Amino acid sequence: MKANDGIKTEGPKYRSSDRVRADRTDLLYKDIPEGGTLMSIKDLRVVYQTDDSEMVAVDNFSLDVKKGELVSIIGPSGCGKTTILRCIAGLLQPTSGTISMGGKPCTAPGSDRGMVFQDFALFPWRSVKQNVEFGMEVAGVPKEEREERAMRYIQAVGLGDFADSRIHELSGGMKQRVGIARALVMHPAVTLMDEPFGALDAQTRNIMQEQLTRIIMHSERTVIFITHSVDEALYLSDRVVILTKRPSTVYKVIDVPWNRPRDRACPEFTKLRRDILDFLESQNVMSNDSGTMTKKPEKHLGDMFRSKE
Ligand code: ADP
Ligand code: MG
Repeated sequence: MKANDGIKTEGPKYRSSDRVRADRTDLLYKDIPEGGTLMSIKDLRVVYQTDDSEMVAVDNFSLDVKKGELVSIIGPSGCGKTTILRCIAGLLQPTSGTISMGGKPCTAPGSDRGMVFQDFALFPWRSVKQNVEFGMEVAGVPKEEREERAMRYIQAVGLGDFADSRIHELSGGMKQRVGIARALVMHPAVTLMDEPFGALDAQTRNIMQEQLTRIIMHSERTVIFITHSVDEALYLSDRVVILTKRPSTVYKVIDVPWNRPRDRACPEFTKLRRDILDFLESQNVMSNDSGTMTKKPEKHLGDMFRSKE
């Protein structure tokens, strides 16, 4: 599979070798301590081939993801965020570079990585419960256990009364809660979220962020969260990875020092949000054809930034 085959490889694929009992996935990584490196991404490079040229979408992207953290990846639109996530999910083969979990290369989709899509990607002909059960069906989980687990997660996302509803009967926020339950029910070692709240109105988005915060606080999830909202990244994350414009590479990694739940109105939050926004805005304004970023925005950045180097 080449990078430019990307579109054709969209959507989950399962192979018999991936049919690990989904609820056992956590056990594969049980020896990695909380805070230890769960996933290692090294020197990722993705070049898309178009009819007559090549386009470098991601270059020199490296990141270690710690077990139990929520790490956000934030960057200008079109900078390569989805490309990075699709490589991690195993849906797209990078041109070069490696991705591994617990030392094992991730080259194909697997139940140890669960994906939540921006556009929900639910099956419209299935009920809420049948959508949440889907991955377990593929993994061969027995019916009774499947139903019990599905209901537990449907209740956890507050949809207990809608288990038998059809997808078209749900609001956007409810649909995305089904998407989250469907991913989490598989107990993935890492949950991958690609702008999951991007299609929601501001109020629903805030509610979903609060719910996700609650889930994180109670279940020690490892999450890689893509967003272009600075506010969302700072509200949710343990660390925020800021990308340059395309080809995306890591510009800064910020450790977010505040406990959850967070107060968006506090001056520290507002200041850090402003600093990051200034940087992202400068990325668009100061872009050049080669995508090289100038270092000028550095003067905007506050003390909480630390260089990746
Ligand atoms: P983001 O998620 O940050 O908005 P993407 O990863 O979707 O960015 O895309 C990065 C760049 O790669 C964009 O310029 C986009 O047009 C291009 N791109 C994405 N997918 C493909 C593809 N399958 N073939 C060619 N170009 C692509
Ligand atoms: Mg995207």
